[in-house]
Amino acid sequence: MRRKNPAKQLFGTNGIRGVIGRDMVPGLSFSIGAAFGSMCKGCIAVGMDTRTSGESLLRALKAGLMATGCDIVDCGVLPTPALQYIVRDDFDGGAMITASHNPPEYNGIKIIEADGTEMADEKILKLEQRVFSRNFKFQPWNKIGFEIRAPHLIEQYIIGIVRQFPSGIGNGMLVIVDAGCGPAGTTTPEILKMLGCRVLTVHSNPDGHFPGRMPEPTPKGLAALSELVVSCKASFGVAHDGDADRAVFVDEKGNYIEENQEFALFVQHICEQQKGIIVTPVSTSQLIEAVASKEGCSVMYTKVGSIYVARTMHSLKKKGEKVIFGGEGNGGLIFPAHQFCRDGGMTAAAMVSMLASRHKKLSEMVARLPKRYMIKDKVSCTTAQKVLDTLEHAFFHESIGHTDGLRISRGTTWALIRASGTEPLIRIIVESNTRKTADSLYHELMDVVSKNLPD
Ligand code: MG
Repeated sequence: MRRKNPAKQLFGTNGIRGVIGRDMVPGLSFSIGAAFGSMCKGCIAVGMDTRTSGESLLRALKAGLMATGCDIVDCGVLPTPALQYIVRDDFDGGAMITASHNPPEYNGIKIIEADGTEMADEKILKLEQRVFSRNFKFQPWNKIGFEIRAPHLIEQYIIGIVRQFPSGIGNGMLVIVDAGCGPAGTTTPEILKMLGCRVLTVHSNPDGHFPGRMPEPTPKGLAALSELVVSCKASFGVAHDGDADRAVFVDEKGNYIEENQEFALFVQHICEQQKGIIVTPVSTSQLIEAVASKEGCSVMYTKVGSIYVARTMHSLKKKGEKVIFGGEGNGGLIFPAHQFCRDGGMTAAAMVSMLASRHKKLSEMVARLPKRYMIKDKVSCTTAQKVLDTLEHAFFHESIGHTDGLRISRGTTWALIRASGTEPLIRIIVESNTRKTADSLYHELMDVVSKNLPD
């Protein structure tokens, strides 16, 4: 049976986001801090990315937390996974001011639980209820929280990644890092140098105006990185999104590696070394399953969103299952030996390790992957659920899954049709091993969709 999720009103798949001065204002940040502080006790680690609005939102958030009795450790500007790592080791929770890959006018908040994962849906709903009803447990004068600043804690994260790999594994490998003027400018180059790489950087200065490129690392935005990789004869280039929980790559020829292919390269490498379960959302390319099953490993699918992947991996591990890797087809990869969240710095380090052990060029490794053809589309629609119901009826004879939206499987061809959680849209993904079969299912679906759109 299809399960309906109770709707989160403020928070989306990865925290709350909004345009500064319009829907994301310090008053809302204060309310979220006060609501979070009313739900937990103890010491909360906070941090932010490099956005111009970060400081004002962070101060408001801290005011809400302290007024409700929480002590604060401010870690300053750092990647989201760095804060998650710090929280998991030493704190009762965390809050990160970031809008990840969104343009500069956006900002947002991610709430982190004591185990370092993003707050689960049930608790987010309770937090939202407190914000809407202004149900805050403000404390008297002698129970107000205090704050200390601890920018040095970022070192724990850097060392935590470096310790995952044999000493000097980089062995002089030349790598170019594009931090996109985000917080990874102080972490990823340092991590790679400590692994023994030679590192050059582009857009490594923290700047919330994003003068080099937008926070979303697109092939177009990474032109400078590609040029530098080729001209310097580097082994690869790595780029991060605005809070560095994702990493994408260009090969030694300057070509952008599609993120499902990136994921598949790591799956292949990890599955050759250990057997177990890979966790990924239903929106990910079947390339992952093809590569994993060839190595005798299995794939478990979740709803779309890294938080579902991370939490599924965590619960599998608790049950004693061997979960070896997870992630999404967008450069957000989770290495469970390190921590249960997407981590761009860790992904960059893992690429160094993979190249060092395989003695092949990155472009050669990509070229050997099986070919898949993916079509992604979106259709404006105010009656998304009705259209999904009609599609399910029209394709009743096919194999249908309800992990998230509607997933239609037809041998090596599949489609995912979902209602957007934040906009009046239907998102459609179709994938197959040939362009012809992908096109065919796409047109069949669009035929039904277009006939059932409201006038
Ligand atoms: Mg991000």
